[in-house]
Amino acid sequence: LGSYNRDLKTGKMDCSETCKLNFGISEGQQFNYEDLLRSIVPEHRDMVYQKVQKAITTRTPYHSEYLIRWPDGSLHWINASGLPKYDADGKATHLIGVVADITKRKNYESQKDDFLGIASHELKTPITGLKGTIQLLERFKDKAGHDMIPRLIDQSAVNLKKIVSLVDDLLNMHRISEGQLYLEKSTFKASKILASSCHNIISQGTHQVYMTGDLDAPICADEQRLEQVLVNFVNNAVKYAPDSKEINIVVKQLKNQVIVTVSDQGEGIDPAVQPFIFDRYYRANHDGKSYSGLGLGLYISSEIIKKHGGQIGVKSTIGQGSSFWFSIPNPTA
Ligand code: ADP
Repeated sequence: LGSYNRDLKTGKMDCSETCKLNFGISEGQQFNYEDLLRSIVPEHRDMVYQKVQKAITTRTPYHSEYLIRWPDGSLHWINASGLPKYDADGKATHLIGVVADITKRKNYESQKDDFLGIASHELKTPITGLKGTIQLLERFKDKAGHDMIPRLIDQSAVNLKKIVSLVDDLLNMHRISEGQLYLEKSTFKASKILASSCHNIISQGTHQVYMTGDLDAPICADEQRLEQVLVNFVNNAVKYAPDSKEINIVVKQLKNQVIVTVSDQGEGIDPAVQPFIFDRYYRANHDGKSYSGLGLGLYISSEIIKKHGGQIGVKSTIGQGSSFWFSIPNPTA
């Protein structure tokens, strides 16, 4: 929090060093009210000026949030408060107050707004589909044997599955942020979750799934949650590598841990964005191609693995594919 004391007559400001730093001004440099106004982006400048003037004339505290441009050109959000001071004749002489850099909070808010927009849009697509198929089904209500009915039921089931999976992601994200991700551990063979997580993809028949390595390796973990991580890896391999028809899953049992790797031969991930893909809401650009999703799957997966005391990661080369892996420590390790 930076503090300032502005002389209303001369425009001179006594600023703390933090106050100057909040405006990108280095120690010892001059910083007056004129400089402050100049740093505010044109769209917000008049609003700030008017609020300050109003506080002085109405003898009320001043408060505002505005965007500034630092001398190095970067944009920052400021939260400012102030209180006018008066002399014995009731004339305003000074405005004293505090300023804080709230850029992080503002960016987070805008990320959240973007996320809400994406989430609503993602939900709207399958809901519209479901609405359409149910309207059609209504038309066939009295024609029990009509050959359209099985197809419409299948379409409804696909859309419903998408809605359930989106809502599950949202609920999981909420649980994680509330610290309510609990594990129910048991010991099972790796092959068990491999089979259940690939069941859908295998039955679709669009991709070949090869499972190799120490398939009988015992894993002590929350079976359902770990399956969720694998389903996410496998679904992403299908989604982001539609032209590569092979998915390889390898289980490696080491002394202290079991490592499971899911590899595709898709477009790969730019090394510059790889460190971010496990972040909440993060979605990479794919050269103009648009894929549906909330940017939550890998974030949820990494929280599940961390909760198990394991590690998660990716190795990827552009044009050659991606290998997502996780490790689970052995209970005795
Ligand atoms: P979502 O798929 O909903 O966007 P995820 O958290 O599962 O969210 O993935 C985050 C991002 O990581 C994706 O938007 C995508 O850009 C990238 N990604 C994930 N898996 C792959 C993959 N197998 N190949 C290429 N990119 C991937």
